Amino acid sequence: MPQEINVLVVEDDPSAAGSLESALKLAGYHVWLAGTPQEGLELLRSNKFPVAITELHLPKMNGIQFTQQAHKISAGTNILVLTPYSFISSAIEAMEEGAYGYITKPLSSSEIRIVVERAVERYFLLSTSDEKEYLVDLAVRDGLTGLFNRRYFNELINVEVNRVKRFPTALSLLMLDIDNFKNYNDTQGHQAGDELLKSAAKVFKNSVRAVDIVSRYGGEEFIIILPQADKKAAQIIAERLRVQISLYLPTTVSIGIATLPDDASEVELLIEKADAALYQAKKTGKNKWCAA
Ligand code: GH3
Ligand code: MG
Ligand code: MG
Repeated sequence: MPQEINVLVVEDDPSAAGSLESALKLAGYHVWLAGTPQEGLELLRSNKFPVAITELHLPKMNGIQFTQQAHKISAGTNILVLTPYSFISSAIEAMEEGAYGYITKPLSSSEIRIVVERAVERYFLLSTSDEKEYLVDLAVRDGLTGLFNRRYFNELINVEVNRVKRFPTALSLLMLDIDNFKNYNDTQGHQAGDELLKSAAKVFKNSVRAVDIVSRYGGEEFIIILPQADKKAAQIIAERLRVQISLYLPTTVSIGIATLPDDASEVELLIEKADAALYQAKKTGKNKWCAA
């Protein structure tokens, strides 16, 4: 890594703090521990943190209040809240107050690593251009669009599906394919085709929730993981994406939706079902979504 990345951990339980510290150190981060929110805010004032992880249930100032205060000090810091499954609604509340995501307890080191990595990447994506070269170094990204690549998607989907197994919630997958893209390339040129793919990637990223994971799956195919989205929620998001693309770009998109646990219980089948639903959308007219 070109520079050491600071991660702040605000946790009053020494055993949880210890687990987080070792998982984060193993992943190569420089870890700063704060036992109280006040201490955490002090550290935020004096250092640059791409990511801060905070316990939700802290004495004097809870994680939601900490999130609000932390954003006043360092708007760019992505805040992750720690939450047991039974308090997931508090995590969503924190996300409404600006937290970027959450990590579930009991802690899992692979979940910590992947959630933190996403938050760090978002920090650098939103940062100034002198940090852009950091992105180029990342093997997890697609060079053209800056989205996660297929290899990294495969890693992420496995973590997300495992999370669903630990804490049963729904999860949906959207498989998206630009309509008649070959024709666009042929008439407008390959360069214009590339620009269109980049713009589509931006529209996708800007139209989904912070917890959603957008990846480039292949040439003009994209795939989006929607954690905690049941079929109805996934349909609403798919429709939003479809409309945004048709409004802002000179093209349209077809979308296949598959949902866990309704349509599959394993990753491979979930992807297959989304793919089959996409095929259905293509076959029945394009510029639409179909659900498995
Ligand atoms: P459909 O509506 O059925 O999806 O038709 P389509 O034309 O979009 O699909 P098809 O699979 O026939 O063509 C996909 C085209 O995408 C062909 C390929 O040259 C082009 N393509 C794939 N990757 C890239 C890329 O990175 N840049 C550009 N400009 N074109 C690409
Ligand atoms: Mg295709
Ligand atoms: Mg296509």
